[in-house]
This record gives sequence, structure tokens and C-alpha cells, in this order.
Amino acid sequence: MATRSLFPTLVYSRRLRPRGERAFNAQLLRECRQLRRDDAAGRRWSAHSYPAGYTSYGSAHRMHRTSPTFAALEERLARHVRAFGRELGLDLDARPLTMTDCWVNIMARHAVHGLHLHPLSTISGTYFVRAPAGCAGLKFEDPRLDRLMAAPPKLRAAKPGQGTWVVVPAVAGHVVLFESWLRHEVPPNLVDAERVSVSFNYSWF
Ligand code: FE
Repeated sequence: MATRSLFPTLVYSRRLRPRGERAFNAQLLRECRQLRRDDAAGRRWSAHSYPAGYTSYGSAHRMHRTSPTFAALEERLARHVRAFGRELGLDLDARPLTMTDCWVNIMARHAVHGLHLHPLSTISGTYFVRAPAGCAGLKFEDPRLDRLMAAPPKLRAAKPGQGTWVVVPAVAGHVVLFESWLRHEVPPNLVDAERVSVSFNYSWF
């Protein structure tokens, strides 16, 4: 082969389980909304750091330790994280990845989550609990963007992943995993319905 693909950026997207997600998501959704009602500190934090939305990132970010439902989510995520780790070529025999953080995000209309990455983690991801039709997906940025110099525009026919951004659609019941250094954002939610997700970090230490 004359041309090789080196240093690929991998993003994993798959259904959490083949079936049975409806009841599980209904329970998760109830708990996410209950948390928003109970978590005054999180609502205050969100008021200045997450306008038009609620996140427990600054207040209740170890939900897998405090709720059996979120612990069940952790259990169901484990095989996906292992599979993604294998695809990344990570040697995790001596020391596995561990979920360190797990938090709730509820994005009402006009809520947005600007470009960011997840420091101090190895693999991060999101599980979509509720994804109304037309809601924003997860938008990834080419990690080489800051090195582009004298770059011509890309062809319309360029393959997915050859452009500067890729949007992975939000689908209820699906999990998306990525390496924690990969910058991403949630563009504005333009639909008049709540987009609900649970995000998490896995670390190796
Ligand atoms: Fe994120």
C-alpha cells in the first residue's frame, strides 16, 4: 500500500444493550430530574456555568457511587469501555480503567456546552438518556486543527473524518466513548424539549 493511515483518532458509538433500554432509561430519566430538584448547589452552579441547562458536574459527580441505577449504568458500560480500550491498543491487564466521575446533564432549549476536553482522564463518554428529534449531537474537533498551516479547503466529497468537525448524533440508549484529550462540544439545543445525558470519565492510575 502506498499511503498509510497513521495515528487515527477513534470514537466509539454503540447501543448500550441490545434490548431492555426503555425501562432503564425511564428510571434514569426520573433520577436525573429528581437530582435537579434536590441539588440546589448544582442549580446554582449551572446558573452561571451552564445557562439554560442543569449539570451536576460541579456538585454531584460521583453518581455511580450514590445511586444503584447509576451503578447499573457503570456495570453496563464496562464491556464497552473494555472493547474501546482494546481498539485503542491499550494494555490494561495489570491495571484496568476505573470510572472516576459520572454526572447528569439536562439541556433545555438554547442550552449549549462549549468546546472542552476532560483533563486527568483516559477515556470519557456520554450515555444518552433522552434525545428528542432534532436535538444537538456531540461535535468533535480535529485534534490537529491547531497545527493546520496553509491548508486548502476540503472537498465536498471528502470522507467523514477528513473535515474539521464530525457530529455524532445523540440517540437515546446509545453510548459514545472517546479519548479524554479530544476536544468536543454540544452545539445549541434548538428544540423545545430536554436533551438528557449522563457523562463520565475513566482513569488509569
Ligand atoms: Fe464533555
